[in-house]
Amino acid sequence: MADIRFVQAESLKEKPADISKVGFGRVFTDYMFEMDYNPEEGWHDPRIVPYQEVSLSPANATLHYGQAIFEGCKAYRYEGGKAVVFRAKDHVARLNRSAKILDIPAVDEKLVYDALMKLIDIEKDWIPDGPGQSLYIRPFIFSTDPYLGVSVGQYYKLMIILSPVGAYYAHGFAPVKIMVEDTYVRAPKGGLGAAKTPANYAASLHGGLVAHEKGYDQTLWMDGIEHKYVGEVGSMNILFKIDGKVVTPELDGTILDGITRRTVLQVCKEWGIPTEERKVSIDELIEAYENGKLEEVFGSGTAAVISPVSVLGYQGQDRVISGGKIGQFAQKLYDYIDGLHTGKEKDVYGFIDVAGEY
Ligand SMILES: *Cc1c(COP(=O)(O)O)cnc(C)c1O
Repeated sequence: MADIRFVQAESLKEKPADISKVGFGRVFTDYMFEMDYNPEEGWHDPRIVPYQEVSLSPANATLHYGQAIFEGCKAYRYEGGKAVVFRAKDHVARLNRSAKILDIPAVDEKLVYDALMKLIDIEKDWIPDGPGQSLYIRPFIFSTDPYLGVSVGQYYKLMIILSPVGAYYAHGFAPVKIMVEDTYVRAPKGGLGAAKTPANYAASLHGGLVAHEKGYDQTLWMDGIEHKYVGEVGSMNILFKIDGKVVTPELDGTILDGITRRTVLQVCKEWGIPTEERKVSIDELIEAYENGKLEEVFGSGTAAVISPVSVLGYQGQDRVISGGKIGQFAQKLYDYIDGLHTGKEKDVYGFIDVAGEY
């Protein structure tokens, strides 16, 4: 176990009485993890301290040039009241893959994993236990260089903050309408699409707003060159059930290697459902739709887990998927993965780490 300093809070906060009434990411727990990087010492002084504001130079490089990455995973209240984290090691490993893409110095994965698990152990009373509720974990790294010159940073900060969150589907598991975006582009080939970085979100905000104004919940981004191949939906990967197979865009550097996407593909293998990771063109989807072979469309991501799609809007025309209802397969996947989170389903994959027992 790594040497992680602990600074006790003078007093603890009152926890929200009903987390389902609090918006996503509005409330934070009593403690956070922090560590710093400089060229002389590398990553140093790992510590768990009371949750507090960060003081930054107005010239802070991240504010101006956006050299930053993040992760998002969840802790759940498990069978027997244990505090568990879902696929924590995979999330820490992806933090380092994102770091590489943005030239951020790699972290010691074991240290960050230990820190994350220790923080969850300290804050386990903050994990809400209602259906679909969890403690959202947000690790992130940003450059702290106080200069306006454009260059790869020399100084960084890694932090982990925790926020109790209500069920994503506050009014029950429900399908979403998505618009296939053929004007705006999120991440072209050769860009930052494979990194979990704020820049990809900045690039998606305006297109997302336009889709909202047209009555859609989310945007399905297309490739940046031909606007022909589908990529991913906002903060989710996209999967299609076509003629009995689960098909999803390949990891070509323009989309994120989603951990939930991986979980879905692993579960499909276990269930004997054929999967394909490859280029998926909008023409193929329309043809499959017209032939009645596009059985289901759904997104995957840590926040929603599975997000069934009921409408695919493309060039002003709406195509209703699965009769506008939740697809049977999406429902089955959601129930199963939700069961893995809480221990209702046996952890045959080794996805669960118990805080205090790792
Ligand atoms: C986080 C994220 C996802 C989903 O990844 P998970 O690991 O399943 O949570 C998909 N796309 C983007 C752009 C993301 O930032």
